[in-house]
Amino acid sequence: MSEFIWIKGEIVPMDEARISVEDRGYQFADGVYEVVKLYGGKPFTLEPHLQRLEKSAQGIDISLPMDRSTLKTEIAKLVARSGVGDGMVYIQLTRGVAPRNHIYDPGQKPTLLFYARPCDDPQLPGEGEGVRLLTQEDDRWKRCWIKSIALLPNVLAKNKAVRAGADEAVFIDNGVVTECSATNIFAVIGGKLVTHPVGSKVLPGITRAVLLDCAAELDIPVEERGFVEEEALRAGELFITSTTRELSWVARWNDRYIGQARCGPITLALHRALRKRVLSETAD
Ligand code: PMP
Repeated sequence: MSEFIWIKGEIVPMDEARISVEDRGYQFADGVYEVVKLYGGKPFTLEPHLQRLEKSAQGIDISLPMDRSTLKTEIAKLVARSGVGDGMVYIQLTRGVAPRNHIYDPGQKPTLLFYARPCDDPQLPGEGEGVRLLTQEDDRWKRCWIKSIALLPNVLAKNKAVRAGADEAVFIDNGVVTECSATNIFAVIGGKLVTHPVGSKVLPGITRAVLLDCAAELDIPVEERGFVEEEALRAGELFITSTTRELSWVARWNDRYIGQARCGPITLALHRALRKRVLSETAD
């Protein structure tokens, strides 16, 4: 099946899409992005994803070239044309094309594009192996709430982790656990669900927000605070979240095992609650 892409207002086959070498996304990583999960061709939590896209864009002084409801309609057209059932939509907005110069024209026309692609169903927590994390110093900028396409620190950290036999890199900022290269992280400490606050150091993950809501529904107490590595190592349960992954339990932290070396009950309960929401939002 050939892939399609929505680019500059048109849906075209992926291999016919063209971007200028002088697009600022290419030369300065001057842009933001989103990833939205599709379940049976239906997007989950599309509205909060588009709100975050708008906020990220504002954070780098770009305006969305259309309102959110028009964007939703255009995404639906692209998904229908692509015929993707279970998969994801990648959306990218850059400042657009101009002769290379650090100074930008605030009125410049941005480049918007998006495409849909199938992705494998994530492994269910409780099935298979847990995730192995490798700690790395958090050397990212202080505007992590912006979902920037400038992902080099994340890319390098993840590659280092995978080359060391781990699955994901966990960032440590002055001893405090912030998030992972492409996921938020939660610990169960003394019966409470603990996760770093969002803002300068942590992306406001959409899955994170849904899970905090599920925790409230399940009467699981939540503490939004940074926790140190020692607390992570002693945590009863540890898990990571993202749009495409949903939720994965963590089995190892560098060369140490976490908790009972199996997926814990709070992790399982939260994942069940998340799946319920997915079903109710994406059912026919
Ligand atoms: N943190 C980072 C650094 C990420 O890249 C991602 C995935 N985009 C997340 C957290 C999880 O966010 P979400 O649940 O919105 O996918």
